Amino acid sequence: MKQDVVVAGGGIGGLACALGLARAGQGVRLLEQAAGFGEVGAGLQLGPNAVRVLDDWGLLPGLHARAAFPDELRVRDAHDGQRLGLLRLGATMRARYGQPYATIHRADLHGLLLEAVQRQGGVRLHLDARLAAYELASNSVRVTCEDGSVFQGAALIGADGLWSRVRTQLLGAQPVRASGHLAYRGMVPAEALPASLRAPVVTAWLGPRLHVVHYPVRRGEWFNVVAVVHGVLGQGHGGPPGSDPQGWSHEARTQDLQRALGPVCTDLKDMLDAVTEWKLWALNDRPPMAGPHEHARGRVALLGDAAHPLRPYLAQGAAMAIEDAWTLGRLRQDAPSGTAVDWPLLLQRYARTRWSRNARVQSRSQRNGTIFHASGLLRWGRNTSMSLLGESLLNNPWLYSGPPQPVA
Ligand SMILES: Cc1cc2nc3c(=O)[nH]c(=O)nc-3n(C[C@H](O)[C@H](O)[C@H](O)COP(=O)(O)OP(=O)(O)OC[C@H]3O[C@@H](n4cnc5c(N)ncnc54)[C@H](O)[C@@H]3O)c2cc1C
Repeated sequence: MKQDVVVAGGGIGGLACALGLARAGQGVRLLEQAAGFGEVGAGLQLGPNAVRVLDDWGLLPGLHARAAFPDELRVRDAHDGQRLGLLRLGATMRARYGQPYATIHRADLHGLLLEAVQRQGGVRLHLDARLAAYELASNSVRVTCEDGSVFQGAALIGADGLWSRVRTQLLGAQPVRASGHLAYRGMVPAEALPASLRAPVVTAWLGPRLHVVHYPVRRGEWFNVVAVVHGVLGQGHGGPPGSDPQGWSHEARTQDLQRALGPVCTDLKDMLDAVTEWKLWALNDRPPMAGPHEHARGRVALLGDAAHPLRPYLAQGAAMAIEDAWTLGRLRQDAPSGTAVDWPLLLQRYARTRWSRNARVQSRSQRNGTIFHASGLLRWGRNTSMSLLGESLLNNPWLYSGPPQPVA
């Protein structure tokens, strides 16, 4: 009998994984701990590498209905407003990579994937299903949820995010790495902004120990603003000491953010002042992956943040989860028909295809944080290289031309 695959986690990665597998004819059981899929999170950026996957899955029309497609990425100094660098997006990205650069609200991307999964069929969604542990049998995996329910599958994909339980059981307990950075996020209706700030542009403001990024979402009707500063949750930022480090939406006070940022230039101040409500989360990651053994072992694999959580400074967290999912779906599609799928072999190929690219994105994201927040000589060097090297410093052909084809 054909067995389902169990996917733990119904975020962007889990839904994309379910869709990729279902499109290849694989039955899926998707377990999500939350009681429902809600409007959680704010903006995400999708490079042409992620849009290429969505196009392959027939989701471009849906993306166009929900996302924004900025014309430029502008890098500016947070204090004096000086322009430091520029990367043309829009038509230039399309010409270079065959796909556009998109910016979208997390809930809209999640909704797009959820609808696609439901249209596709072959995926059974289980809400309120929080994986507690799994057990291996000779040719299957048995998953137990906290409420005692049990699910059996030919393989288990842990897409259960940064604090993944699947990861802990597969690789052993390894604490997440606190970056010491906090992200304040807010949403502003475009109509509340001065005309100069309503342009379809991704703007990154850099300053010592801080950066701020804003860009349009929802076809340009809203702007997503994220300000990253150094600090600790519960110590002068957000809720009381001991606030849950796993929370995505801590209450945040504008004055804490203002104090951490210090004086900023007028354009940036106008954008920050337009945000009426801030939410806050602590940025954590893990060291870059060290080999394929961290992606999959036997019948169990990790996908997205469960495998390679990153700091959002290359804007590739959702994209790497989507690429992982596409690779898995492609490998399943290529599996010989008429015989039982050799899941341990398939997951090995998945791990060998994905791990080094994911590790590279993890380390580049971490490095970007240092460069963005630089002061003194490093800051001078950054600004000088941006003016000398121009776009080539911000363009990433190795990244935007992905995802790579699965290895043999
Ligand atoms: C609520 C939320 C809000 C976010 N907001 C933003 C944002 O504003 N900006 C941004 O850049 N990134 C945000 N992210 C992160 C971003 O979505 C991810 O970095 C990226 O999309 C990779 O997604 P993922 O599916 O691997 O992990 P995640 O998005 O973390 O999804 C993991 C999923 O697994 C579920 N889960 C966890 N443990 C279990 C378990 N034991 N059993 C079953 N299900 C489980 C979680 O509820 C979640 O739905 C957010 C993530 C979450 C969960």
